[in-house]
Amino acid sequence: MKVSLLKCEDYNYEKVRETIVKSIENIGGIDKYINKGDRVLLKANLILKKRPEEAATTNPIFVRAVADILIKYGAKVVIGDSPGGVFKESRMRNIYKSTGMTEAANNTGSQLNYNLKSTIIDNPEGKILRKIVVTDMINDVDKIINLPKLKTHGLATYTGAVKNLFGLIPGTTKAEYHVRMPDINDFSDALIDICIASKPVLHIMDGIIGMEGAGPSAGDPRKIGVILASQSPYHLDKAASKIIGLNLDEVPTIMQSAKRGLCSEDMNDFDIIGSELKDCVIKDFKKPPVSRGNIGIVPKPIIRFASKNLKSKPVFDYSTCVGCRECAENCPPKVIKMVNNKPEVDYSKCIRCFCCQELCPQKAVSIKQPLLAKLIFRL
Ligand code: SF4
Ligand code: SF4
Repeated sequence: MKVSLLKCEDYNYEKVRETIVKSIENIGGIDKYINKGDRVLLKANLILKKRPEEAATTNPIFVRAVADILIKYGAKVVIGDSPGGVFKESRMRNIYKSTGMTEAANNTGSQLNYNLKSTIIDNPEGKILRKIVVTDMINDVDKIINLPKLKTHGLATYTGAVKNLFGLIPGTTKAEYHVRMPDINDFSDALIDICIASKPVLHIMDGIIGMEGAGPSAGDPRKIGVILASQSPYHLDKAASKIIGLNLDEVPTIMQSAKRGLCSEDMNDFDIIGSELKDCVIKDFKKPPVSRGNIGIVPKPIIRFASKNLKSKPVFDYSTCVGCRECAENCPPKVIKMVNNKPEVDYSKCIRCFCCQELCPQKAVSIKQPLLAKLIFRL
């Protein structure tokens, strides 16, 4: 397996386009993945109504460059995603505008997806999901190209190629998946199932400016300066995780992929083409607050005994909360009540999916790790 890794210092359009062309060449060339005349969905990360400089979404210059390359090659392009929350046209119009996708589409002659229907696909190879409810936009295209953003993630530690495909699940259906699979390993297996079933032909990651700390939406933009590309989301995620200083065993989607034989648990089953990985590593990249860390040296009985006190939880800052209800409406098990226009959580029923943190437009939700967990994870 090959993963292209190339440096790209900023969002200068010509430079980004040239680096993406080279990235695709590094892994076999565009002909290997796309036929002339294909309709291609560019599955960007459009998590929320955010501006490009907030680094929560795939940058519009990046999307525009991929779209332009494909259209000049002879393909047709649709840009889309299904963010969390209600999947409706007015909301998508706002998100496309704010994230710069409207401009990217206008500049290239691409379409923006407004097909808001759902469909069910069979997934006989699935471990958790044998039938998957997905957005019908996948039926409007011949191929999918995945365009993830390199970010930290409160639930999954890291979000990249595998996790980005959760955006193929229609808005509010995502909540059902969280309730069905509260365990992070099961949830990671479900993400892998979605990846297998949707069969993207190519993954090209915007790692030019990523997000550190409280990702995937409330963290801080951080220059990483790389573009990665691969046919394999699993190997791309291994390379990207290493670049932001994570151990592979901190990323549940990688460990579950390895258990399923989709990649190995080490870095020895793929070749990196382009830059040296060690030259791209950001040593002080801030991890998300719920990073599971390496607790291998703590005896299992102690972990079991203390597990209730080890769980991180969402905490609400009422001084920045504007009472928009987004968290309460999208809490999968519906354990957030609005009291005097402020959210209150029944922590005994909270499944720690951190959708509230992900979807809060005000960054009013943070993830708090209990003191005991901090001490143990530091060991
Ligand atoms: S989503 Fe954020 S701003 Fe809106 S009610 Fe919840 S905490 Fe407050
Ligand atoms: S309160 Fe937040 S973390 Fe807890 S279940 Fe609801 S959305 Fe998930």
